[in-house]
Amino acid sequence: MANIEQDRWSRVKGRLRSSVGEDVYSSWFARMDLESVQPESVHLSVPTRFLKSWIQTHYSDKVLTCWQAEMPEVHRIDLTVRTAMRCAAPVKEAPAPVEQRRDDGRPAPELRATAIAPVSASHDALGGSPLDPRLTFGSFVIGRSNTLAHAAARQVAEGRRGDAVMFNPLYIHAGVGLGKTHLLQAVTWAGNSGTERKVLYLTAEKFMYGFVAALKTQTALAFKEALRGIDVLVIDDLQFLQGKTTQAEFCHTLNALIDAGRQVVIAADRPPSDLESLDERVRSRLAGGLVVEMASLGEELRLGILKSRVLAARAHHASFDVPAPVLDYLARTITHNGRDLEGAINRLLAHSKLNAQPVTLEMAEREVRDLIRPQEPKRIKIEDIQRVVARQYNVSRSDLLSSRRTANVVRPRQVAMYLAKTLTLRSLPEIGRRFGGRDHTTVLHAVRKIEALVAKDVALSDEVELLKRQLQE
Ligand code: ADP
Ligand code: MG
Repeated sequence: MANIEQDRWSRVKGRLRSSVGEDVYSSWFARMDLESVQPESVHLSVPTRFLKSWIQTHYSDKVLTCWQAEMPEVHRIDLTVRTAMRCAAPVKEAPAPVEQRRDDGRPAPELRATAIAPVSASHDALGGSPLDPRLTFGSFVIGRSNTLAHAAARQVAEGRRGDAVMFNPLYIHAGVGLGKTHLLQAVTWAGNSGTERKVLYLTAEKFMYGFVAALKTQTALAFKEALRGIDVLVIDDLQFLQGKTTQAEFCHTLNALIDAGRQVVIAADRPPSDLESLDERVRSRLAGGLVVEMASLGEELRLGILKSRVLAARAHHASFDVPAPVLDYLARTITHNGRDLEGAINRLLAHSKLNAQPVTLEMAEREVRDLIRPQEPKRIKIEDIQRVVARQYNVSRSDLLSSRRTANVVRPRQVAMYLAKTLTLRSLPEIGRRFGGRDHTTVLHAVRKIEALVAKDVALSDEVELLKRQLQE
């Protein structure tokens, strides 16, 4: 496809991303590809029917508007499902990588692992979600933030049919791009190779779709039976499970599997207690196994991931090399998530191939500029505010929380509440609770009081500024 179209497409995706936000974008649009551009219409594709109908019902106007911002003459978006073509491959073969073109719109260099075990026929027969052959234990880099999650996943993957299940469900949560899908697919690949166990990997979205489709064709019973016949059920992105019926069905499946001693592995972007749309009983069942959080990727881990990506790329592009200072630079500056690390290496590879140039620091700085995000402002905690204010006014933290009303604690307490309101996102009632269980009206009063004083009392205003600076450092 012409470069100009790909560039346009990149810009359209950029617009979409900023208009719907990172989370929504990566859930629904990350796998949308540009097929072709006609004078008045644009042809896009997605991998599942579910995605297609979801985007059509919820985001079709947005997508069109974003295109029109680039090409005013576009009046129609055609959205099709491309699964049919790609899944036609014989069962024994590993499926094609899910993403043929990367997020940055450039051609994806071949980074596929060479030897991988075939996914079992049952995974395909049950309509398992596509697996990416690169996401195995072999390519998963272990670091401080994911040691426990990795160990637990390994344990699950190595279990044999009939073994006692150690923790059920295994529930892994982490922010976007921190390796949840990688770990879950690694479990699936490992579990499906060579053993007699049936391991099924489904995104929550696919689970919903499978169930809804089964209901429509009145094969829901068969679908349930099939689900309950597997040994390990792996569900990704549980936070997207929606709809009362599907949730109830998920709950039954979960209970049936766990009670039958089958393993369930789940990933989500938040802990079970924060899955607000789910029923309390489901949440507590989810929390009843092993819940592990993966923290953000530390610099060392980022460096490890970059190195493993370069190695993988070198399997196909022997001349590709990224000097150590460039790797250090990328590990230091791309702090956001694993996807950006992968994107950075893909760009360097594409750039060095297309221009037949070795990778240099200068080129890296230019190529990945947009992946480097400004440092997130430091998150200030209420405890920090209380500590700093107490120290400044020479009172104790418990004085601030107490019900004492002498002038020497009232003012510092009000200042601390004011800072809590202005420097954190906490609500008034929450702040009240954290200040010895005070009412939200008390907090509001304090905030207004200090606001008024700061406006006319220079000394106090300086004091407050100083406190803010100390906290933000
Ligand atoms: P999530 O599902 O949590 O959003 P992914 O599993 O899709 O994140 O990871 C995003 C990218 O980062 C993938 O390319 C993945 O391979 C890579 N990645 C994340 N963590 C690791 C890790 N520990 N080792 C190797 N690659 C990782
Ligand atoms: Mg994921």
